[in-house]
Amino acid sequence: MARIDEKLEPILETVKQRNAGEPEFHQAVIEVMESLGRVVAKHPQFLDEGLIERICEPERQIIFRVPWVDDQNRVRINRGFRVQFNSALGPYKGGIRFHPSVNVGIIKFLGFEQTFKNALTTMPIGGGKGGSDFDPKGRSDGEVMRFCQSFMTELYRHIGEYTDVPAGDIGVGGREIGYMFGQYKRLTNRYEAGVLTGKGLSYGGSRARPEATGYGTVFFVRSMLDACGEGFEGKTAVVSGSGNVATFAIQKLQHYGAKVVACSDSGGYVVDENGLDLDLVREIKENRRGRISEYHRIKGTGTYFIEAGKGSIWDVPCEIALPCATQNELNGKQAATLIRNGVRVVAEGANMPCTPEAIAAFQRADVLYAPGKAANAGGVATSALEMQQNASRDSWTFEQTVDRLDDIMTNIHDVCARTAEEYGAPGDYVLGANIAGFVRVAEAMRALGVI
Ligand code: NDP
Repeated sequence: MARIDEKLEPILETVKQRNAGEPEFHQAVIEVMESLGRVVAKHPQFLDEGLIERICEPERQIIFRVPWVDDQNRVRINRGFRVQFNSALGPYKGGIRFHPSVNVGIIKFLGFEQTFKNALTTMPIGGGKGGSDFDPKGRSDGEVMRFCQSFMTELYRHIGEYTDVPAGDIGVGGREIGYMFGQYKRLTNRYEAGVLTGKGLSYGGSRARPEATGYGTVFFVRSMLDACGEGFEGKTAVVSGSGNVATFAIQKLQHYGAKVVACSDSGGYVVDENGLDLDLVREIKENRRGRISEYHRIKGTGTYFIEAGKGSIWDVPCEIALPCATQNELNGKQAATLIRNGVRVVAEGANMPCTPEAIAAFQRADVLYAPGKAANAGGVATSALEMQQNASRDSWTFEQTVDRLDDIMTNIHDVCARTAEEYGAPGDYVLGANIAGFVRVAEAMRALGVI
């Protein structure tokens, strides 16, 4: 792991003290700080003007009560969050996560990452993130709708097309965005399509938004392989998760000729030695809202399922590994196993899925490693394209939208690679992404004065 420059240490100490008990947020800040030593050596004004302290402090944090009534007529109380991290480049932009593990530290780490990710897209969007500790698993449609309506009954006063534009994340897909948009429309009496992204096509959504994060991650991998004169054909891949990001990443990998042999959910992972049947994964996870273990029960021969806790999906040998489930799902030991088994490329479809020890191991072993803030930026970039279509009351074709996404991801790859080289660390996509993202945000902040 890189060391933190001594000039930055006091800033990091303050961040830790001021945000005690938020380990994921500390982890995200440390990862960026490790890259910034080289920036302040070249541009000391970023330090002198307090820009690094300011960039680590969210502009606004909102925490609220979300009361709702379940199907048994019992009153339930959850907690809602929206962290509006940085609006130097545009309205706050970032998803909403519904998962029992959500707390303010997790939302802050996600909002911090989002700020640099959004800058890398070069689109006019600031960084934010939100969510709730609500667990949608096992809840009826009616319960999910009532929860979303209650969540929006507070959130609506903090968001808007020019203020803050949420989208989906873990546990928030098309269904939840629809319920939240409906409630926003009702409360404000405005058809303000640009207030949320990830909408359905029938009410202002963009084609290719559901596909964008997974496809974008694979486009990024394609660029990394291209740079080494390699392709996907004949390579074996493992993708963790089986939600939005994972399923579209699998689809694109298969399209390019890779064989995807494993995916997972929070209950465990399934292996299909003949290559995963994506239609079946979707049928189980999307239509039945079931468990991935059902895959093995249905398919039988050539497949097996390992329960969570009894093994790790990263034990499965592969050349391409895409962690697409959640934060810190791939640790140093698992990275060592992947390396031993010949992994060539690791790209983060999820946000911060690799622990610092795992990242260090990949980099030491010269594995091509792409951090989430670069590799999974295709989702938010396409959300920005959705905002463009809403603003111009236009609707683009699928091909047009995917072509734009492809260009954006290629550009992010090239900017990260170029920046890494410029700062003396060729091939270090972490450094390239952190520096390119930081410089863009910091320059805009400086131009706007001390606000
Ligand atoms: P989904 O809710 O669609 O899918 C999440 C998947 O990850 C599910 O298979 C889920 O399993 C699994 N998972 C969630 N939490 C855990 C856990 N604690 N342990 C093991 N497995 C878990 O979410 P997305 O696909 O949208 O998001 C996945 C990741 O990608 C997140 O890190 C998100 O922040 C990131 N991301 C998403 C973007 C988007 O556009 N959606 C954009 C950029 C990043 P189960 O079904 O059992 O819950």
